[in-house]
Amino acid sequence: MKNGKEYAYLLKKLESAGFEAYIVGGCVRDALLGREVNDCDITTSAIPEQIMGVFSELKVAPTGLKHGTVTVIYNDMPFEVTTFRVDGSYTDSRRPDSVSFTASLEEDLARRDFTVNAMAMDVRGELHDPFGGRDDLAARVIRCVGAPEKRFREDALRIMRAVRFASTLGFEIEERTSAAALELRGLLDNISRERCRDELSKMIMGENLAEVALKFRDIIAQVIPELRTCFDFEQRSRYHKYTVYEHIVRAVAAAPPDPTVRTAMLFHDIGKPQMFTLDEDGVGHFKGHAEVSAKAAEVIMRRLRWENAVISDVSAIIARHSDKISSEKQIKRLISRLGEDNFFRLLEAKKADNLAKNEFVLTENAWFDECAELGRRSIEESACMSLRDLAVNGNDIMSLGAEGRQVGECLRELLDLVIDGELPNEREALLCRAREVLA
Ligand code: ATP
Ligand code: MG
Repeated sequence: MKNGKEYAYLLKKLESAGFEAYIVGGCVRDALLGREVNDCDITTSAIPEQIMGVFSELKVAPTGLKHGTVTVIYNDMPFEVTTFRVDGSYTDSRRPDSVSFTASLEEDLARRDFTVNAMAMDVRGELHDPFGGRDDLAARVIRCVGAPEKRFREDALRIMRAVRFASTLGFEIEERTSAAALELRGLLDNISRERCRDELSKMIMGENLAEVALKFRDIIAQVIPELRTCFDFEQRSRYHKYTVYEHIVRAVAAAPPDPTVRTAMLFHDIGKPQMFTLDEDGVGHFKGHAEVSAKAAEVIMRRLRWENAVISDVSAIIARHSDKISSEKQIKRLISRLGEDNFFRLLEAKKADNLAKNEFVLTENAWFDECAELGRRSIEESACMSLRDLAVNGNDIMSLGAEGRQVGECLRELLDLVIDGELPNEREALLCRAREVLA
């Protein structure tokens, strides 16, 4: 375990002052699974003032006093120490109205969401597991602590968390828990969009995403209702063997673990149903769906408060995901339009897209690897790939009389000519051509 020495020190220090202290929750689960553990939560019978007293020689910050959380800085690293607590009543399926401290570890574990998240371990490695978390870990099951209906009514975010853990851990959701999650999914409307988004972002990184997203599609559509039109939508194309929705989730699962690429796959075909046309041979087409999906992704991601930078990367990738790439010239143009990172992501997106179609299209993926290689080479060799590298700038173009959008358009046109090898990246030649373009 990372920082094992530090955790042992902190737990021992609390114990020798007469308090109980444990690592608890997700870190215990992940340690027992043999997964990498980064952050541990520490829980203790000491109340915040007592925690600060025990660690008076260290730097401590009362980060969440109301919730009993103190951050202790030890060996230049922050560690969160939280007092055992019980949540008060819930009136809005969202947050407890109050929290209060307790002297009982078991009461603290009882407020936690799932049995596999409700275990604590002391400094000697002894496990405290009153709800059968260890058995559920072995059986690979997500099960609520207590009655699922009650627990989801208290905090509906747990519905998303259940699906998220099923996706990332590859676990099944126990029957009563999954029935309650589906039944009560409407309560997710009470949850803040950011919190739903956080769970969704973690969910789509999971190895088991495809299976989980198929089984719990109604829960996902509670957060992204736009996906509903994709459910059961037959594509009527020889390239496809799945409905639009199944293709989408299989493409997410086939993508590498880059959050931007995975998010792009989640929305890449969301505009397909509305762009569907059938030709006289009964074959389905989706002309223009990439643009429409990119726009839809922007709207959805803004609503769910994704970061602006991520929104623009994702929509740029989606807008071009069905473009053919057929020449080196085009590769250079794509790099100059998208930037290097998004160019490589676009290739990953195209490969993931193919991995969720009929097998015969997969032969194309070797070409996308070649495109990446060609792209890397042009980046190394080429002195001019972006507007920044051009030997003239906006001021030069404005001094020729251009205004507003004209300036950017003129610069882009010059850049394309340089990339295509039709103009040298030299000031005089560029200005001369700019005069013609603006005339
Ligand atoms: P990870 O950090 O890998 O996302 P985690 O299990 O540590 O997973 P956190 O959100 O960090 O999840 O929460 C830490 C612990 O707090 C959980 O393991 C669980 O015991 C408890 N917990 C978190 N959110 C809730 C909730 N909404 N309801 C009940 N208990 C919760
Ligand atoms: Mg955690």
